[in-house]
Amino acid sequence: MQDINRNIGQTLKRIRAEKGWSLDQTSKQTGVSKAMLGQIERGESSPTVATLWKIAGGFHISLSTLIEPAQEQEAGYQEADIRIRSAEQLRRRPAQDSMLVASLFPYEDSVGFEMYELTLLPGYERIAEPHESGVTEHVVVLSGCLELLVNGQWRELKQGDAIRFAADKPHGYRNLNEQPAVFHDVIHYQHQKSEC
Ligand code: MN
Repeated sequence: MQDINRNIGQTLKRIRAEKGWSLDQTSKQTGVSKAMLGQIERGESSPTVATLWKIAGGFHISLSTLIEPAQEQEAGYQEADIRIRSAEQLRRRPAQDSMLVASLFPYEDSVGFEMYELTLLPGYERIAEPHESGVTEHVVVLSGCLELLVNGQWRELKQGDAIRFAADKPHGYRNLNEQPAVFHDVIHYQHQKSEC
């Protein structure tokens, strides 16, 4: 069994226990079937990035919380407020999916965002569930050609193009070209400030 599947399974189990959610309730919140959730928890299934994103959404946690084991979230060179991370080392390919994910900067409350390097292999297409209210995504294309579905319209982005959009509505990502499309995605969460 791949380490990544075991880690995801353990993390899911822990988060579900913390919330006190049954498999039933978790299935309703995430839109992922009970059977699939059980398989993931037992490490018997390799969930795709799309499934992981659904689970993260249902729990209102970031994707990086699910795919990066705690010790790896702390990996990398760290000194005072400097953090150096390597996409090369972090790139993951859950379920041998055609989307690769490198969690460059996992979500932290202090900054309110997370940053990924995402790679879409040729032919990849995904319509994403809306994120929580107030979430924005900032996408910058590093190489290849990416199409983003925003406000019901597919928009082509080339190397160096950047777009920001409200990600609390349905949106999508696809690569219809022969080359991988690689981009940075900064997902910004707007949390309610707690009243003093
Ligand atoms: Mn999204």
